[in-house]
Amino acid sequence: MSTGGIAVLGSANMDLVVTVDRAPGRGETVTGRTFTTVPGGKGANQALAAARAGAAVRFLGAVGDDDFGRTVSTILRADGIDVSGLVTSAEPTGTAHITVDGDGDNSIVVVPGANGSLAALTPEHRAGIEAADLLLLQLELPLPLVAEAAAHARAAGVRTVLTPAPAVPLPSGLLGDVDVLVPNEHEAALLAHTGDPVAAGHRLAAECGDVVVTLGSQGAVHIRGGDERRVPAFAVPAVDTTAAGDTFVGVLAASLAEQLPWEAAMRRAGAAAALSVQRFGASSSMPARGEIDAFLA
Ligand code: ADP
Repeated sequence: MSTGGIAVLGSANMDLVVTVDRAPGRGETVTGRTFTTVPGGKGANQALAAARAGAAVRFLGAVGDDDFGRTVSTILRADGIDVSGLVTSAEPTGTAHITVDGDGDNSIVVVPGANGSLAALTPEHRAGIEAADLLLLQLELPLPLVAEAAAHARAAGVRTVLTPAPAVPLPSGLLGDVDVLVPNEHEAALLAHTGDPVAAGHRLAAECGDVVVTLGSQGAVHIRGGDERRVPAFAVPAVDTTAAGDTFVGVLAASLAEQLPWEAAMRRAGAAAALSVQRFGASSSMPARGEIDAFLA
């Protein structure tokens, strides 16, 4: 059974979300329907998803000395997340400016702020990684820091799960320190230089142990060695897919840390993501463990 839980080294933002009938084109102004502020950032989102699924989570990251930062920290703590590794930076808290259109599709501009100020692992970060069963990483922090964290986890015998988002070329050697890579179709295509997401997954699996390519409403495919196993998505009415991927990864990690077999972990992650796309927002849409269990029952 799990003892040390999950360490998440990643971004914490305030999401500024508008809903519109139709997203504006270049140079165009449209009238929005609603505006809300919700804590987000891929790191914080994945931490919340994992914590709500029942994992013991420690968050490692940075926020600014401002209201957004204090709110983000409070929300993480409210879900039982250990924020002793959340440092206060001289930069403002990161923000994500999200537009959700009438079809539930979104477009996002991220301003990294404090997230971009983390240059190297602190002693607390190192200790947090060493104490964990599993380290969750994304690419919204400086890439050398992400690579340093993955290498540190590998040296400490801690499994690493990487979401390669946003889609950017990876530092050389990073994939070799990653145990589970979870790209969406777009990220898989960029990293493997092929438009076929399953072929891309096979190429990437040659460099790290397990690859899970998420395929939106088509579900996900788990690839290891030459084998692939498709897991269809649950058919649900989607209203906002903002945090589908982060919910999927957070719950996948929580399930793997609990030693669930891959098939059950994938199903559980898909169920949590299916619940999240039926609600608006990022962190606000993530289901609790009981809801996931009820959905799967
Ligand atoms: P990202 O948000 O990173 O682009 P995806 O869109 O691939 O990730 O979604 C991640 C997972 O969320 C999918 O593998 C699937 O399980 C679930 N999901 C996404 N969209 C839907 C949907 N419309 N209906 C049901 N499940 C969905």
